[in-house]
Amino acid sequence: MASRINIETYPGNIINNEFVPTPTTRHSIDPATGKPLYEVPVARKEDLDAAVKHARASFKSWSATSFEDRSKLLLAYADAVEANRTDIERLQTMEQGKPLSLAQTEVSMALTWLRQFATMEVKSEVIEDTEERTIYSTFPPLGVCAAIVPWNWPILLGLGKVGPALMTGNTVIMKPSPYTPYCDLKLGEIAMSIFPPGVFQVLSGDDSLGPWITEHPGVDMVSFTGSIPTGKRVAASCAKTLKRYVLELGGNDAAIVCDDVEISKCLPKITTLAFLNSGQICMLPKRIYVHEKIYDQFKDAMVDFTKNNIKTGGGFEADVVVGPIQNSMQFEVVKDMYSQIDKAGWKTALDGKARDGAEGYFMEPAIIDNPPEASRIVVEEPFGPIVPIMKWSSDDDVIERANALETGLGASVWSRDLFRAEKMARQLSAGSVWVNSHFDVAPNVPFGGHKESGVGMEWGIEGFKHFTNTRSLWVWKKTFD
Ligand code: NAD
Repeated sequence: MASRINIETYPGNIINNEFVPTPTTRHSIDPATGKPLYEVPVARKEDLDAAVKHARASFKSWSATSFEDRSKLLLAYADAVEANRTDIERLQTMEQGKPLSLAQTEVSMALTWLRQFATMEVKSEVIEDTEERTIYSTFPPLGVCAAIVPWNWPILLGLGKVGPALMTGNTVIMKPSPYTPYCDLKLGEIAMSIFPPGVFQVLSGDDSLGPWITEHPGVDMVSFTGSIPTGKRVAASCAKTLKRYVLELGGNDAAIVCDDVEISKCLPKITTLAFLNSGQICMLPKRIYVHEKIYDQFKDAMVDFTKNNIKTGGGFEADVVVGPIQNSMQFEVVKDMYSQIDKAGWKTALDGKARDGAEGYFMEPAIIDNPPEASRIVVEEPFGPIVPIMKWSSDDDVIERANALETGLGASVWSRDLFRAEKMARQLSAGSVWVNSHFDVAPNVPFGGHKESGVGMEWGIEGFKHFTNTRSLWVWKKTFD
């Protein structure tokens, strides 16, 4: 039986399977109450150096461990996380702000991901096999990988990097966002009793830690999820040591709703997704293009559905969909976007606003009615519960508008005519495109962005390969004897 963690204590960073305290500590804020949460370590450069040293040392034996043994340990780890899931879910709601039901979904997904990762082997590929020679592609691990995690989805996005890094034979250092260090530290604590020392370590720090990691000559690869501007800084920093990197960055997904949809069937899903996690997910419908023939009807139904079903409140309140904005920095960004409603003269279908007198960072959902295509709410990722709906009339025109931005993470087409929808879907430049859905992800399906939404892919065997080198192996059968 796996031991139970205590979510109220953070004795140190997780280095070489030990708690390593730091001289200074810091805390994050519960976004629903504005109150401080627990004290966590602030890693120093020497803590990173120590973690890298241990990761490099343990890489030798971990990379030589069989796939079956790695798989067993990852499954044991998933069981240990599951044994602690109730506490982790509550902690996730406390630190991130998301509704408890969504925290439960996140943990369920992370467990599914880990268990599926445990079955995914990057096998050698035979390119040519003749009497003379066999040529393979083989995929040795890179070495020490860093998992740099954002604040919106810290459990799944953290373990979504750790699992593939470990299964491909790398050691890994996870760095949570300073806004959400708690669950990731606990996930590292749980790993202490499962993996050999130095294989999976967690460092919590302040804003210096990310750049130290990307610059560190002992780190071989960075798997980063976060914003586009930070992603560019990570790429520039990795270039100094020619580190490998995978970047999962921001998105501003178009959802294209055709004139033949049955509004009552697709609208609940589109609307719920648009406001999920208070809009703080990289890959949600953030620009909803509705065919002009059904625009008014769709708009009215969307407003109605939002008023009746999308409740704003603290994550522990029943039936809440829109929890607080995760942190004060993002709260200001989102409030600034809402302030444009008056400044830019956008028409609202639903007026949202900051919740009066609340101590937390609450914004109520807003729906912007057919704003100009060049307006900020269309061209910028708001990362808050505010979404524009726009009219369209021709397939070609809406595809061009959907593809017009520098982002290309996800996109969707909604129609009863699957032939037409798939034809449109195939013209959308995004890393994930759905017909009659949005935001579907799976551990065996590669996930990533086109254009500025990212470099490389995560998950799926393709994502696993980003944690490996490709080695062409030529075996000549004439042995010169
Ligand atoms: P962020 O870029 O501010 O931070 C992400 C992580 O990088 C944090 O751990 C942060 O501490 C660290 N970091 C900050 N500066 C760094 C630097 N110079 N070098 C190295 N690390 C550094 O992003 P965020 O605000 O935490 O997350 C929100 C953004 O992430 C949104 O734009 C969202 O769309 C995007 N996102 C993308 C995906 C995806 O998979 N494509 C998923 C979730 C979120």
